[in-house]
Amino acid sequence: MLAPTLPAPPRRRLRPATAPRVRPSRTARRAPRTRRDRVGAASAQHRSLRIALLAPPWIPVPPTGYGGVESVVGLLADALHEAGHEVTLLAGPGSRSRARVVRVLDRLHGSEIGASVVEADHVGRAFEHVERAADEGRPFDVVHDHSGWVALAMADRLPVPVLHTVHGSFDDVASRFYGHHGGKAAIACISRAQAATRPDGVEVAAVVPNPIDVDAWPAAASKGDHLLWIGRFAPEKGAHRAIRVARATGRRLLLAGPVQPGQERYFAEAIEPHLDGDRIRYVGEVGGERKRRLFAEAAALLMPITWPEPFGMVMVEALAAGTPVVAFAQGAAPEIVEPGRNGLLVGGEDEMAAAVADVAELDPAQCRASARERFAPERVAAAYELAYRDLLRPAHRLATAIAPRREEPPAIAVAPEPAPNSA
Ligand code: UDP
Repeated sequence: MLAPTLPAPPRRRLRPATAPRVRPSRTARRAPRTRRDRVGAASAQHRSLRIALLAPPWIPVPPTGYGGVESVVGLLADALHEAGHEVTLLAGPGSRSRARVVRVLDRLHGSEIGASVVEADHVGRAFEHVERAADEGRPFDVVHDHSGWVALAMADRLPVPVLHTVHGSFDDVASRFYGHHGGKAAIACISRAQAATRPDGVEVAAVVPNPIDVDAWPAAASKGDHLLWIGRFAPEKGAHRAIRVARATGRRLLLAGPVQPGQERYFAEAIEPHLDGDRIRYVGEVGGERKRRLFAEAAALLMPITWPEPFGMVMVEALAAGTPVVAFAQGAAPEIVEPGRNGLLVGGEDEMAAAVADVAELDPAQCRASARERFAPERVAAAYELAYRDLLRPAHRLATAIAPRREEPPAIAVAPEPAPNSA
């Protein structure tokens, strides 16, 4: 029997019991201007929607290697399309989807992530596409933006409502940015933990977790006893702590991920000296089948994060592959890890080393089930559809936004109550 290291996550309400009154966002205040608009908005509550999904410009959708946002946008585009909506994915070249794809720029910019000239070019052209559609009498009902900064800063210039999903953490820079621009679109967060750290005055319209297609992540016929750490080599992701934990357990550790610009020094000083090609091994950036195998064959994913992780796609990917997660109880980890069922939450490195032995008892099928129950793309798409329709409701546009209390943001989300521990 496994003893959960921390109590199970708090029980979630699926819908806010009440919608407290707040000052509506600028998007919400933009009321339908004509009778045709009003009729269109009302009928949008029932018909399929015309949705523009705006991805970042750097990496194709879906990504071939690193790319959490791109994988989310890819699954969402497919799921909304399957649900019968008319979806246009505005993304970088090389992107593929069951939805219609508009490749906005003519080349990818994987080595220039964050360059303002690229993002502004991408967003400016995407906005032109949205405006052209409106001018031609086929307006989108909603633009769902996942692209970064520029689109949100300009969102109130578009002739259609915008829902913006926050993919990063609300650090100082982001908080200042969202504090000023956050009212220009409806804001969706990807975890309660992320929403709880939003700056004062920012309204959260919905909390919707990221999706995973469990069927695309086959479980391994047999597992190794090695541990896995995977991610970008930013100190807060804790690769150096994973090394110490692996040493303490005597287990092998595989480390995977890109060393992004700016991370070279951390990698050279905190990681490289410990690599021995055997017990502590770096396998580079991985993608596709190799990545799925890496996840599935590991005994556990280590998540020794020391930052308010807004979601952590690698955790749900591990679960989908039947691999339990041992995570520091930071950020969204307590919303993903169900202690004793699909992993354990710990408070430090010693506890993590001890927990590694325990998670071997967990059932890979339960890990997969836990991911399927809460993060299936169709459930995530349905939750976003509710958020889109809320945005289109005339009443919403005129006066009432969904208004979270600061300490408890609403969830339209899809997560059922955690199942009882299986172990
Ligand atoms: N990833 C990948 N190859 C690698 C390392 C990471 O494809 O070598 C993917 C990983 O599978 C996940 C994403 O990059 O889908 C990282 O997303 P996460 O939310 O965990 O972290 P962040 O967005 O903060 O980097």
